[in-house]
Amino acid sequence: MPSEPHLHARRVLGLRCRECGAEYEVQATHVCPRCFGPLDVAYDYGVIRRLLTRQRIQSGPPSMWRYRDLLPLEEDAAVVSLGEGFTPLVKAERLGAELGLRNLYLKNDSMNPTNSFKDRVVSVAISWARAHGFETIGCASTGNLANAVAAYAARAGLECYVFLPRDTEAEKLVATSVFEPTIVAVRGTYDDVNRLCSQVMEDLPWAFCNINIRPFYAEGSKTLTFETAEQLGWRLPDEIVIPIASGCQFVRHRRAAQELLDLGLVDGQDLPRLTGAQALGCAPVYRAWEAGTDRVSPVVPDTIARSIAIGNPSDGPYVVRIARETGGVVEAVTEEEIVEAIRLLARTEGIFTETAGGVTIGVLAKLARRGRWNGDEVIVAYVTGHGLKTADAVADAGRRVEIEPSLRAFREKVAV
Ligand SMILES: *Cc1c(COP(=O)(O)O)cnc(C)c1O
Ligand SMILES: [Zn+2]
Repeated sequence: MPSEPHLHARRVLGLRCRECGAEYEVQATHVCPRCFGPLDVAYDYGVIRRLLTRQRIQSGPPSMWRYRDLLPLEEDAAVVSLGEGFTPLVKAERLGAELGLRNLYLKNDSMNPTNSFKDRVVSVAISWARAHGFETIGCASTGNLANAVAAYAARAGLECYVFLPRDTEAEKLVATSVFEPTIVAVRGTYDDVNRLCSQVMEDLPWAFCNINIRPFYAEGSKTLTFETAEQLGWRLPDEIVIPIASGCQFVRHRRAAQELLDLGLVDGQDLPRLTGAQALGCAPVYRAWEAGTDRVSPVVPDTIARSIAIGNPSDGPYVVRIARETGGVVEAVTEEEIVEAIRLLARTEGIFTETAGGVTIGVLAKLARRGRWNGDEVIVAYVTGHGLKTADAVADAGRRVEIEPSLRAFREKVAV
């Protein structure tokens, strides 16, 4: 690729408040000092339009960084990468047949380096933090974020502190501690952890991936929708089913789809319907949706879908508005439906997802059985984490027969 040294100054304009529109220089902050609205990265799309083509993307690396022109990293900054993104988009023939959907696809983001979609956001956040001189990385996590941050901090050679609820799944703790971060296990919920981190951050020159450098972090989510469109042959799907924790990625998918349309990278003109999935045991956004309001009241989480158990989701109100605006819905499933959906996906497609994926597939199945679709729509479900992260949820699945090492025993007990 030719080097374009002064491009970034023009490509990334700064930060813009989502509420009042005030603009700020690029810096490690996420809240508008005037109105307390969230800050987003602002780009000069005129510059990007002159530069970006399908061909340029396709000649990029086989990772999410083929979309670097739409990510907030300077052109001369080194990327901290473990090969994240460009995960498989698989056509789900057997699951589709079971649900009466002839064009169902699964974006299998459990295939990322630390087995969840969080590698996308963390690769951007840590690349940005290192390029801007930060030496210590932190995060407030429900599990998967800590896992990704610990791995990418190791890769980047940065100090790392991850804060998570004390009762985070053992599998996620093992996969995090191997990278030797400092693990701060907090006696409380994720929302307590998040509040604590916001206080800790005040006195320390640290980059907290999902707090002060959240505007940059969030942008990484867009690549999931960019890749989906590319893998569908440069078309947006009719509807996407997305799990909701803080709502961060849901909001970015709206923006990603808009960018693809505005830049003329996809055929067609319509945004996909964006549909949100929550566990009933932690469903503040679903409750607001059902009540017909975008005021989201906090809840205390109680669900096996711990990676998406955020009781006070910062982007919740925006999720409700975007679901309504695009023609999507927000739906929720019970604990039993989560486990059934994990099994259904495994049985029909050979994909083992964690409880958050069970929420997504559970909502997909619920809506399909209720007759939401006629069957010809192109529907994509985002499968965001691997089943080994929450192995306990399905520990006793499948048929198991124990036998002596003899043909007779086999004939008697197995192939009867
Ligand atoms: C973090 C996470 C999400 C969604 O996160 P948002 O905070 O809503 O962006 C979804 N699935 C998994 C597995 C996650 O770890
Ligand atoms: Zn503002």
